[in-house]
Amino acid sequence: MSHSRPSDAIVVGGGPAGAACAAALARAGVDVVLIHDERRGGWPGESLPPGSTGVITSIFGPVLDEARGHRITAGIRAAWGSRDLVETDYLRDPSDDAWVLDRARFDDDARAAAASHGARILLGRAQTPERNGSIWQVPLTSGETLTARFIVDATGRSAAVARRLGMRSRRRDQLVALVAIGRTDRAARTGTMVESVENGWWYATVIGERAIVAFLTDADLLPKPDEHGAFWRAALASTQHVRRIATALPDPELHRADTAFGEPAYGPGWVAVGDAAAAWDPLSSQGLLAGILLAAQAAQAFVHGDMREWGEDLRMLVEDTWGLQALYYGEEIRWPDAPFWQRRHAWLT
Ligand SMILES: Cc1cc2nc3c(=O)[nH]c(=O)nc-3n(C[C@H](O)[C@H](O)[C@H](O)COP(=O)(O)OP(=O)(O)OC[C@H]3O[C@@H](n4cnc5c(N)ncnc54)[C@H](O)[C@@H]3O)c2cc1C
Repeated sequence: MSHSRPSDAIVVGGGPAGAACAAALARAGVDVVLIHDERRGGWPGESLPPGSTGVITSIFGPVLDEARGHRITAGIRAAWGSRDLVETDYLRDPSDDAWVLDRARFDDDARAAAASHGARILLGRAQTPERNGSIWQVPLTSGETLTARFIVDATGRSAAVARRLGMRSRRRDQLVALVAIGRTDRAARTGTMVESVENGWWYATVIGERAIVAFLTDADLLPKPDEHGAFWRAALASTQHVRRIATALPDPELHRADTAFGEPAYGPGWVAVGDAAAAWDPLSSQGLLAGILLAAQAAQAFVHGDMREWGEDLRMLVEDTWGLQALYYGEEIRWPDAPFWQRRHAWLT
């Protein structure tokens, strides 16, 4: 086992929230190591709503650029509450562009921005940390051990570090996503389409010639794993709008998409950021922006030595967002007896 030189802070997880936290810590003069597990790359087709560009640029620099594979999007079309597609036209919003991202590229650029501010990026996978006095020891699967006085869990929905430090996840639902990424050979325009159905909802996002098509439902409403592909294709064929977006799609992969909130999301010498602290329903399209912003704010709170206001801001954002989520699901009343919708309508009572 080898020990690297101690640092002030270790950020575990090199997704957007981890990169934002590492960038903000390094900018404030904190000696920080970001542990990035290369095995997972992001997928194309996640969206940033208008109002994101300033925040992202202030943290990562000018990474939002069509020359970097991202696309400005015209808006969202949704058949929600009725069979008709209704368009929210972002192009009429003069305040800011909305984006469809190439996530792998975005994540690479975010880590590069953190490195440019002085964060050290280390490839590897962290195991359970242990605290010795005020110092954390974080073993890596490589056999190396890192030490620091502050540790950040940015491991995404798994919250792999914070759960071991006593954080409990308050899960609001059991939402999962069956996601397939393929090609669109039509002149489909960049942007996102959403369509609600009896046992969940679909979205399809087009970026360039690629399309990402996902079905969101509750885990217990799915058939056995070996039947996911056939189930998903039959359900896609019965949609009214989304089936028109993509052709030649592989079988879908299952991903967690539940709404959850970590309590407490910080403790002595540690904090959880991004999805590890609060994971949002993909319907909100705010996982990235909220995760990045709150991760940078967590870094500032650490530097000022007081996480309480940060924790309160996180709790208030969760409360507001859970309220909006209930209202939005409440707008779909076509299937009052379907378990998927009944569970969500109960949030309003
Ligand atoms: C179907 C779906 C659609 C979505 N669409 C949108 C959208 O349109 N817009 C939007 O804003 N958000 C969207 N989201 C949410 C968005 O993907 C997340 O909010 C975002 O990825 C969270 O970033 P993060 O950095 O917290 O975690 P992640 O991106 O999950 O990154 C965590 C990183 O930590 C690494 N890691 C885990 N454990 C360890 C370990 N032990 N050691 C080292 N590294 C580790 C992982 O490999 C990963 O690289 C969507 C989510 C889903 C499921």
